[in-house]
Amino acid sequence: MSYKFITSAKLPTRHGEFDIHIFENQDGQEHVMLTVGLPVVNQDAIDMLNQHDAALNQQHESLSERPVPLIRIHSECLTGDAFSSLKCDCGPQLNTAMQAIQEMGCGAILYLRQEGRGIGLTNKIRAYALQDQGHDTLDANLMLGLPADARVYDMCGPMLAHVGVDTVRLITNNPNKVAYLTQHGIDVVERVPLLVGVNDMNAEYLATKRDRMGHLLDKDFNTALHLNK
Ligand SMILES: [Zn+2]
Repeated sequence: MSYKFITSAKLPTRHGEFDIHIFENQDGQEHVMLTVGLPVVNQDAIDMLNQHDAALNQQHESLSERPVPLIRIHSECLTGDAFSSLKCDCGPQLNTAMQAIQEMGCGAILYLRQEGRGIGLTNKIRAYALQDQGHDTLDANLMLGLPADARVYDMCGPMLAHVGVDTVRLITNNPNKVAYLTQHGIDVVERVPLLVGVNDMNAEYLATKRDRMGHLLDKDFNTALHLNK
């Protein structure tokens, strides 16, 4: 799948000002990147740099001198991001990551339009209906004949390349994301864990992600949970 940059603009938010960049794949699906302190790189200039063009060495140096950017890869969650759902931790994770990136002054949110871990909004709500009957988040997907996790990350490389990023500090609890980026030539120098937005309604969901889906939540998660109330 190839991804094309479409347009960008300033986006003031309550966390601070971001640049918002829109990308599209050949099926017309849109993905979004919010950046702070990451100027767009002219790919022609990079190609010329590889030919040791002295006039462009300065740009190259400024790229290598900046701090390693803080990156969050966030898959769309309409219910969590927009409606403040307590069934998951997506909304608080997104807001915390936006705040952390603003505080650092160099980083990006890759907001990927793959709702419900890639199964889509309708199927996510079908899975919620099964969860209402007592099944956990993983079993609900499997009962619907859907994968536990259908997300892909092949858009991340082209999106990060747009702002000249190939080395990152990644905000995630998910080791699969670290492995995926590493396999695709992005150097993850640090995994920055994130535990926010835990509540009575999503504690079981988070425990399933930890115990059955390999997420690296703290061993003392259940204790942390009580502290977080
Ligand atoms: Zn969510």
